[in-house]
Amino acid sequence: ASGAHVPVLVIGTGYGGAVAALRLAQAGVDVHMVEMGMAWDTPGSDGKIFCNTREPDYRSYWLRTRTKAPLNYFLGFPIDRDIPRHTGILDAEEFGGITVYQGRGVGGGSLVNGGMAVTPRRENFGAVLPSVNADEMYGVYYPRANAELGVGTVDPAWFDSTACYQYARVGRKHAQRSGFPFVFVPDVYDWDYMEQEAAGTVPKSALAGEILYGNNHGKKSLQQTYLARARATGRVAVSPLHRVTSVSPAGGRYAVAIEQLDTGGGVTATKTVTADRVFFAAGSVGTSKLLVKLKATGALPGLNDEVGRGWGDNGNVMCGRANHMWDATGKLQSSIPCCGIDNWAAGGAFAEVAPLPTGIETYASFYLSITNNPNRARFSWNAATGRVDLDWQASWKQPSITMAKTIFDKINAKEGTIYRTDLFGVYKIWGDHLTYHPLGGAVLNRATDNYGRLTAYPGLYVIDGALIPGNTTVNPFVTVTALAERNIERIIAADL
Ligand code: FAD
Repeated sequence: ASGAHVPVLVIGTGYGGAVAALRLAQAGVDVHMVEMGMAWDTPGSDGKIFCNTREPDYRSYWLRTRTKAPLNYFLGFPIDRDIPRHTGILDAEEFGGITVYQGRGVGGGSLVNGGMAVTPRRENFGAVLPSVNADEMYGVYYPRANAELGVGTVDPAWFDSTACYQYARVGRKHAQRSGFPFVFVPDVYDWDYMEQEAAGTVPKSALAGEILYGNNHGKKSLQQTYLARARATGRVAVSPLHRVTSVSPAGGRYAVAIEQLDTGGGVTATKTVTADRVFFAAGSVGTSKLLVKLKATGALPGLNDEVGRGWGDNGNVMCGRANHMWDATGKLQSSIPCCGIDNWAAGGAFAEVAPLPTGIETYASFYLSITNNPNRARFSWNAATGRVDLDWQASWKQPSITMAKTIFDKINAKEGTIYRTDLFGVYKIWGDHLTYHPLGGAVLNRATDNYGRLTAYPGLYVIDGALIPGNTTVNPFVTVTALAERNIERIIAADL
């Protein structure tokens, strides 16, 4: 309620926010989490909480009247369709040079993502988070994050026999024939459940094409892990459909301005609460936008000049390859990827073998590559529009394409195959207009101290992907989680 006071307010319910809430509650602190998206705990009229990738409806997108599918063409035809404007689960947030996909709702990105739970190779960690002690991360915090998130790996024998990973076995064969290291990729999806889906004994999710707009079964999102344990402490309250618009000092505390939203995106109430401590966990983009606005508009003028800088796209780029008729990828494809091609050391690219769960045979191999793209963008306040801009340029994806080609040009040459040109437009090979992995904007040890403190304002912290300077060499959420575990442990010990 407006006027209330809480000891700790957490902005956002993704990985960083969920870790902070659980650990603070376990330390005996009452926590209030504020989330702009919906709760995602109530079925719609079809009995399901989440809609399917093949039938996107009002639940699919955050306040859009037309879908904006990451893979927006098929066989050269646009596949987007009209939808009612609703506080749906996936935000395709458009900046000048890039569309940034993010989850909206209690659980943040864990609601929409593929669950790929990858710990970076240790030899790469120094470039990911240079100011963080790698021994501590690999000895304590990565194992802690993996255990709490429920990370597991596909059973290799089942992988070799199941129809739903034929596409991945084709990906493996092509990778290995070209001499690339092929790796299984861990995931938070319940692998036993997926085997039961294949056996036909449980309702299908991964094998029904569910992904991007939520999984009704099988995936261990934060709702099932960190947030469930946080709520079980009895000390954590969550307010969905509430969006934080301001944080400012108020007599030794912080005043937090919040808008309550309806499911059409309209503001139904504005509230102000006070908090002793505020954790920014609104995701790389959400946290960066808030901090940049608050610094520029005078609410938090003492934030340093690193705020808004160091943003990267984790080098994301997508492409498809057209296989020969003898390399069918299967009409049944598990929507949960489970393997990848690791050419990071030689070519700067790690490519996950991704599904195209269309339900028909496509003869396509599809890949999301994470590349060592060096470009970094900056968020800045645009007083004329009252919005925060990001100066990423479309051409900045070229290094990613060059790195991805170190894998796929070689495979195409070896297999006598070509790139698909019908997945991202008319005659367009590269999906280079988007990222799933926004990182940075309030970088650790630059915008904050080495534990996420915004030192000009005691009691304000950043604890999400905004801390990570633009790239993790692999899918990011395990690193976001492990870093949050490290930082909150120190904050609880030293600051409370
Ligand atoms: P988020 O998880 O983004 O959480 C931030 C939360 O804050 C959101 O719920 C948001 O609604 C809320 N919020 C924002 N602003 C405000 C505000 N002003 N007031 C209140 N609430 C606010 N990563 C992997 O490691 N493996 C994968 O397989 C993978 N697949 C992905 C697939 C897709 C389609 C997408 C979009 C992402 C994927 N990711 C994957 C990325 C991963 O989900 C993110 O890196 C991760 O969620 C970031 O965690 P976070 O805590 O920084 O923020």
